[in-house]
Amino acid sequence: MNDIRPHEVMIPLAEPDDARLFFIGRIHTPFTERKDCPRQGSHDGPDCRIEIFEPWVPALKGIDDYDFVEVLYWLDKARRDLVVQNPNHTDKPYGTFALRSPVRPNPIGTSRVKLVSAIGPNLIVRGLDCLDGTPLVDLKPDRCEFTPKAPPK
Ligand code: SAM
Repeated sequence: MNDIRPHEVMIPLAEPDDARLFFIGRIHTPFTERKDCPRQGSHDGPDCRIEIFEPWVPALKGIDDYDFVEVLYWLDKARRDLVVQNPNHTDKPYGTFALRSPVRPNPIGTSRVKLVSAIGPNLIVRGLDCLDGTPLVDLKPDRCEFTPKAPPK
């Protein structure tokens, strides 16, 4: 799992300090292994459930005014020590910041998802590409829709 491919560059990594993030919820997807995850989610993909933990549930107020939501999540199974990568789908190496690979110093993934429904602490969405159980870092209304369609209830 920590092998490197030709042309990849690995760096020695200090012990990361993730303690300053709140994981505000958990993402439930049908994808139990990385090979089952799409490389990027699709709005035609399966329904996934974003579960918000207390005490953050009141922070969902008004989210159902939006059709699309940006989801930020912590790709917790990703290695973090490659600065140059040799992805399977390319024929040359790329720097980590030139890729959307989960392998990065701070493995934050983002997806713009379609909001299907919001019921209590759960959002049903389409467009995710992460493993079942992936920790949730943040939710934001889609930046193209920053004006709510109706005043928040
Ligand atoms: N859509 C996000 C983005 O662009 O920032 C993530 C893209 S990344 C290419 C998606 C891939 O990350 C999946 O295909 C899977 O291989 C991997 N992945 C998904 N969940 C993960 C997790 N919890 N830990 C590590 N890798 C994960």
